[in-house]
Amino acid sequence: MKKIGIIICGRYQACGGGKCLRAVRERVGGFARYPKGEPVEVVGYSYCGGCPGGNVEYVPEEMKKNGAEVIHLATGLVVGYPPCPRIRQFKEFIETRYGLPVVVGTHPIPLKYLEVHRKLPFWETMRMAELAGDLMEEDRAVMEAYN
Ligand code: SF4
Repeated sequence: MKKIGIIICGRYQACGGGKCLRAVRERVGGFARYPKGEPVEVVGYSYCGGCPGGNVEYVPEEMKKNGAEVIHLATGLVVGYPPCPRIRQFKEFIETRYGLPVVVGTHPIPLKYLEVHRKLPFWETMRMAELAGDLMEEDRAVMEAYN
């Protein structure tokens, strides 16, 4: 059993989490790292609090108390226009302060977002391939299914 917490971007704070929960079930995107035979439980789901992300300072504590072993920063931080400029800082902070590994990515990148980002410089300047490798390696047909 793997227990995870998910933190989404404040721009999508009203999101119902459908794509993330589907991706947990289908073991794709940031969740492809967990074997299908291993149950994954989402023990926390919240948002960053809006720019500059003040809730990231506190919300992992509640997730950890509820058993979280890994924190996932949602795909919305990667695919927004522009992407969240603080992904690296969030990851470093949570890993240092709470001792929990942070994975960048939840559901697969919807193909329509990938196609626009390929024409933009953001991901390259942020070295997103290094930061969100699981998402970048996803199968194209899976990305299309998450449009
Ligand atoms: S861009 Fe980053 S800091 Fe701003 S709302 Fe989104 S996740 Fe939070």
